[in-house]
Amino acid sequence: MYDVLVVGAGPIGSYTAYQLAEVGFGVVLIEEDAEVGKDVICTGVIGTEAFERFNLPQRAIISEIKSIVFFSPSLLTIDYTPSDTLAYVVDRDIFDKEILQAAQRKGVDVHLGKQVRRINTYKDFVEVESWNEGLRAAHRQAQAGTGRHRQRDSLETLRAKLVILATGVNYRLQRSLGLGVPPSFLKGAQTEVEVKDLRQTEIYVGRQISPGSFAWAVPLGNGWARIGVLAESKGVSHLEEFLKMRFAGRIKQENPRIVQKRIACGAAKRSVEDRILAVGEAAGQVKTTTGGGIFYGLLCSEIAVHVLQKAFSKGDLSQRGLLQYERLWRSKLGKELKMGQWARKVLRKLTDKQIDKIFRFVREKVSVREMLERKVKFDYHLNLISSGLKLLRPK
Ligand SMILES: Cc1cc2nc3c(=O)[nH]c(=O)nc-3n(C[C@H](O)[C@H](O)[C@H](O)COP(=O)(O)OP(=O)(O)OC[C@H]3O[C@@H](n4cnc5c(N)ncnc54)[C@H](O)[C@@H]3O)c2cc1C
Repeated sequence: MYDVLVVGAGPIGSYTAYQLAEVGFGVVLIEEDAEVGKDVICTGVIGTEAFERFNLPQRAIISEIKSIVFFSPSLLTIDYTPSDTLAYVVDRDIFDKEILQAAQRKGVDVHLGKQVRRINTYKDFVEVESWNEGLRAAHRQAQAGTGRHRQRDSLETLRAKLVILATGVNYRLQRSLGLGVPPSFLKGAQTEVEVKDLRQTEIYVGRQISPGSFAWAVPLGNGWARIGVLAESKGVSHLEEFLKMRFAGRIKQENPRIVQKRIACGAAKRSVEDRILAVGEAAGQVKTTTGGGIFYGLLCSEIAVHVLQKAFSKGDLSQRGLLQYERLWRSKLGKELKMGQWARKVLRKLTDKQIDKIFRFVREKVSVREMLERKVKFDYHLNLISSGLKLLRPK
């Protein structure tokens, strides 16, 4: 019997396991992939605050973001260059693997290549059934009518006092446990290519780029860049269009490989049940403005560990006993998530002409620009958005 069983060894699951083991919990971490960090679809941009606050692997940093240039639909620009580095760009392969190794060093038992399929909650413990990689392959073969279907009784069953769901954007377990899912999803499409003359991070907005959203080009420091689009639908076709529109002739690869993944947009209805807690993208703890999930997930993981220490010492792992987690993380991030969704709706209604007008206004009015720059925080956008929206209100 473990104290805590964590499902999912993404950065948030592994970091939660690491912190729990550090404060003395007996922890097991189960991950469906045989190797973590491989082929992760992510730009890897993480604000400097995350590296100051959490024990994250410095070795994963591949470049720094010191400035950003924003492009309007007609290519008017606004340059933002603060005095300090804004963010780091990480290699998710190294990042995810090193956090997992740190957890293992703290004593976390790690089971890779095992997919959790079922969670049964009892009065004093939770039982978790997982299939190993071979069984999953055998099951796929059986469904396809090829190969030999193995027996169900060779599934592994583990017990723990509490289960943490850190399953990312996969909500099958949450649904089966009645936790609910985020209200909406965005599509993040991205490619990694060699680009000529990309010296700083570029952000593009406009209806043609992606209504209500944006596209980015983030240099990796070695001539390569991650270029992507966050879209409400059709991420891949928006990115193809964007590459033709803005990067024609600048990309070395003829047919760049585009990958896409959905991103939670908004908090899941609930993040606790009796003996169950969800953290990271599994609970919708993702910036609704940019789709960045690592910092908010880490913040909530820290809150979860704090609440669990108290809940275990009181011996109350019921939904009521865990509600403090839900309250604390929502009071920290709830307004940010809602404001981001609202800003997205406003941006979606603006025409390209109106967006150009806003760019012109900010470029010309030094005082407005300075006021907005004072409001910029890499990981919190509430103040910036509310000041921006006030400026848009007709006088
Ligand atoms: C194109 C794109 C760009 C992005 N760029 C950024 C960025 O620059 N910065 C940023 O902060 N965020 C970014 N994100 C979002 C970020 O990648 C996620 O928010 C982050 O990975 C969430 O971490 P997590 O640990 O919660 O989930 P994940 O990283 O998704 O990890 C979940 C893990 O759980 C495992 N799992 C799921 N179900 C089961 C199961 N039943 N049994 C066992 N294991 C299971 C999965 O295999 C996976 O390893 C981007 C996303 C996209 C799509």
